Amino acid sequence: MRVHAIQTGTVQVHERQRSGEGSGLLRFARTLLDPEWSEPLPIYAWVIEHPEGIIVIDTGETARAARSGYFPRWHPYFRLALREQVEPGEEIGPRLSGLGLSSDDVRWVVMTHLHTDHAGGLHHFPRAEVLVSRKEHEVARGFAGTLRGYLPHRWPTWFEPTLIDFGDGMGPSGEGVALTRAGDVRILPTPGHTAGHVSVSLDEGPRTLFFAGDTSYTEANLVSGTVDGVASMGAGEDVAAATLRAIRTRTAERPMVYLPSHDPEAARRLAERRVVALPTTRDAEGDAARATSLRS
Ligand SMILES: [Zn+2]
Repeated sequence: MRVHAIQTGTVQVHERQRSGEGSGLLRFARTLLDPEWSEPLPIYAWVIEHPEGIIVIDTGETARAARSGYFPRWHPYFRLALREQVEPGEEIGPRLSGLGLSSDDVRWVVMTHLHTDHAGGLHHFPRAEVLVSRKEHEVARGFAGTLRGYLPHRWPTWFEPTLIDFGDGMGPSGEGVALTRAGDVRILPTPGHTAGHVSVSLDEGPRTLFFAGDTSYTEANLVSGTVDGVASMGAGEDVAAATLRAIRTRTAERPMVYLPSHDPEAARRLAERRVVALPTTRDAEGDAARATSLRS
């Protein structure tokens, strides 16, 4: 099964968005007002050439986002905290063509969440079944959605996604919902960055490919349990931290290639199938011993 990383331009956010500080509204304010910017980060979408049909995970950003007037100017987040760079040829449609695939042949589009840098390419998929968690759709729609940092007025007019409900035991450490009949592709609730955020797992031989959306900005942040600077506007920092813990538990049970949308290393990790290495108890003991000897 071929799996591809597709980059649809870059995004810059404040450093405090990648690694948040403080709690609640203050945490969000610190993100908005942080003077430090990240380097341009990739905006990844993912494609699985599955025997049951082509699966796309997120749609990346649209080139229209780079034009003035696309974002509501009154909104502090878009005004202060987001810079994007996308060329028309970098949208997901042309990118798929470059791989010899057509967006019309895509069977399923799974949205990890509905922020613009994931939903901006939706217009390329009028023929696919688009799946979104019911919770995410609820918080993203209407004017309340715009206040929360979504752009529902930019969704294609035909946009009526299939809504996913997660029952008990389907949480981030549970089984989630199977997308394919084979059961090898599953959608898991991973709330934190947004209230209805999901991730997608693909079982590939002995390992799992984990398409993480924005559960964390990097693999290092998963390992250290670093919650981002906007989760207080999503599901809350505690829920986000619990999600990261649940993902770490999964990596301990079965080797996992962790693929967040904005991690500059993600495409290379996919190509090399490099799995997450959690610090072992011995590493932790070593660190503790070193710390003790430094103190003494
Ligand atoms: Zn996001």
